[in-house]
Amino acid sequence: MQLGPCNFCGFCSNYGCLNYSKATPQTCTLDALKQRSNFHYRTRCEVTRIVKSDTDDTVKGVLYYDAEGNEIFQPAGLVILASFPLSNVRLMLLSEIGQPYDPEQNTGVVGRNFSYQITGSMDLYFKEHQFNPFISAGGSGQVIDDFSPDTFDTASHGFIGGSYIYTTQGPGGAIGALRTPPGTPSWGSEWKKQIKAHYGHHMVLGTTGSNMSYRDVYLDLDPTYQDPHGDPLLRMTYDWKENDLRMTEFMAERMREIVTELKPEYHTESVKQRGDHFDPSSYQSTHLTGGAVMGTDPNTSVLNRYLQHWDAHNLFVMGASAFPQNMQHNPTGTVAALTYWSAKHIREQYLANPGPLMSRG
Ligand SMILES: Cc1cc2nc3c(=O)[nH]c(=O)nc-3n(C[C@H](O)[C@H](O)[C@H](O)COP(=O)(O)OP(=O)(O)OC[C@H]3O[C@@H](n4cnc5c(N)ncnc54)[C@H](O)[C@@H]3O)c2cc1C
Repeated sequence: MQLGPCNFCGFCSNYGCLNYSKATPQTCTLDALKQRSNFHYRTRCEVTRIVKSDTDDTVKGVLYYDAEGNEIFQPAGLVILASFPLSNVRLMLLSEIGQPYDPEQNTGVVGRNFSYQITGSMDLYFKEHQFNPFISAGGSGQVIDDFSPDTFDTASHGFIGGSYIYTTQGPGGAIGALRTPPGTPSWGSEWKKQIKAHYGHHMVLGTTGSNMSYRDVYLDLDPTYQDPHGDPLLRMTYDWKENDLRMTEFMAERMREIVTELKPEYHTESVKQRGDHFDPSSYQSTHLTGGAVMGTDPNTSVLNRYLQHWDAHNLFVMGASAFPQNMQHNPTGTVAALTYWSAKHIREQYLANPGPLMSRG
């Protein structure tokens, strides 16, 4: 199996790729796995519980609903939970595996260390420059890493952490790429006139910043809202902290310096201000981290350094839920690296000698 070459069509963000140029399991892995006689996969299934053993510190399988709504128990010698950070945490809480985090007492671990990313952006409008957003790809973007964590003395500017600055050309999607100046009506002839004037004459500068974990920021099971099976949904308790807003303010100043050099006709800003609160109603980042973190101490982590659950040695949990903080860069590369790391230790150590790969200290 191999990826198709990218033809820079400019429409790939938020869409599947008709050219098979995006690395997904569907493109790169599944058809190869399907050729193996010992491989099965089941679609349209929903796992609702990981089932603990009654006799020892292991799990014995999962409960799931199949596509017809039948509830099925699937026995397993090894369970790898890889259902995105939020779902990983929810499934562990529903399954009562690991002690839930209690922010009042500062005890427990599942749901602890949840963190996010803080973003800011500026839209720049030019009269003369043509950006051709319909000929691009994410890889044509540029990043300035000079303000990332550990690259400069952030404390002297009143915060810890850091942020990268980026610009990407496009995407050139028919609706998502349309930008109009403030005050433009959202329909009608004036809207059409402004679209015609601005399509291809606009670029975005953005920042994506680190986010520390805090004692009062966490995930737990919602006391009110439930899914159709009657199971509690996940609740996220979250707000920006002073550190995040100071960092964003600092980064906005850096972006303004670039804007001044680029001399757009005008620009608009979408930057969080001191006193702003987290607002989940608009898209800002899908890079959620933490909640089931890796570590060397079972009192402060859910997993050991091999992503093995401290309390059930045949349960491994993959994903950005293992990150103790969000250190600003997009998570998926590190998620993949940790997955390879864990898989290597499962193959080379665990399968030969099933049991905890680290002592509880
Ligand atoms: C719009 C968008 C843009 C993004 N852009 C970037 C980016 O530019 N860079 C970057 O690094 N990351 C980006 N991300 C984040 C990236 O998608 C994730 O980090 C990555 O997909 C996480 O991989 P994962 O395997 O942990 O989870 P996923 O890829 O989410 O896979 C989890 C799978 O588990 C399944 N699942 C969940 N719950 C259950 C259940 N109960 N039963 C059965 N199956 C279940 C889901 O259906 C899914 O197939 C973006 C995400 C979004 C949504």
